[in-house]
Amino acid sequence: MSTPLSPRFQGRYALVTGAAQGIGAATARRLAAEGAAVAVADLTAERCAPVLAEIRQAGGTAIAVDCDVSDPARVDAMVEAVIGEFGRIDVLVNNAGMTRDNLLFKMSEDDWDRVIDVNLKSVFLVSRAVQKHMVAQRSGAIVNLSSRSALGNRGQANYAAAKAGIQGLTATMAIELGPFGIRVNAVAPGYIDTPMTAATAIRVGVTPEEHQSLAAANTPLRRVGRPEEVASVVAFFASDDASYVSGQTLYINGGAR
Ligand code: NAD
Repeated sequence: MSTPLSPRFQGRYALVTGAAQGIGAATARRLAAEGAAVAVADLTAERCAPVLAEIRQAGGTAIAVDCDVSDPARVDAMVEAVIGEFGRIDVLVNNAGMTRDNLLFKMSEDDWDRVIDVNLKSVFLVSRAVQKHMVAQRSGAIVNLSSRSALGNRGQANYAAAKAGIQGLTATMAIELGPFGIRVNAVAPGYIDTPMTAATAIRVGVTPEEHQSLAAANTPLRRVGRPEEVASVVAFFASDDASYVSGQTLYINGGAR
């Protein structure tokens, strides 16, 4: 007779950035459902309140922390606040991100800097602050949000560069932190139905449904992805099911090339 599986994150503590909505919220819910105590981080604590309430209503444990992940002082304060509450961090999901799309010839320096800072520098800042606790513990798992756009995407020079940078950063952190029992991996989603992609649709002048239909037509599975379909892969990388997996980037894109 087989023994039932125990929740993969029972007794573990997780920090998810950009967790007020979209993929981050789905990831926070998933980790909490599997037993983790989750720090839900976003620009303001108010933005985190609905996710916090959902997790608690479902019987899980969660706290909210406010942070702009591109601000080094606020990142350090966020990590210390989480350590103050939880005492340790077993899982870090670097999920916070944003877009400011424009064709290269129209892209401002500010658009470039802000997207690099929020999507790429933030991963360096948060990981640097968290790793010292994970190194002391001699364990930890970090999952970074890259994107299919890392392979190139019209109008996203800044975002594509940031998301490609995350893949190199992931591979390098895996090399440096591996000796301390810390695994570092990345996921690279294709088109996922979130407020981010809905905002892109509105900006280019179509409805989110029209925008999704177009993306679905170019995807072998003929549909776009759901945030929960990214969260489940993030949870895999964060769990002991991936105990010998590090330095990898996995595309979650319905089979698109
Ligand atoms: P979203 O815009 O719906 O949610 C992003 C969250 O990050 C928001 O709650 C926002 O407040 C927060 N955030 C933004 N800037 C922040 C900052 N400076 N500090 C702290 N929090 C900040 O986005 P999403 O679609 O859920 O995307 C989540 C991650 O997945 C991002 O890194 C994104 O680039 C990546 N991604 C998304 C898709 C997609 O199709 N939706 C595809 C590939 C990769």
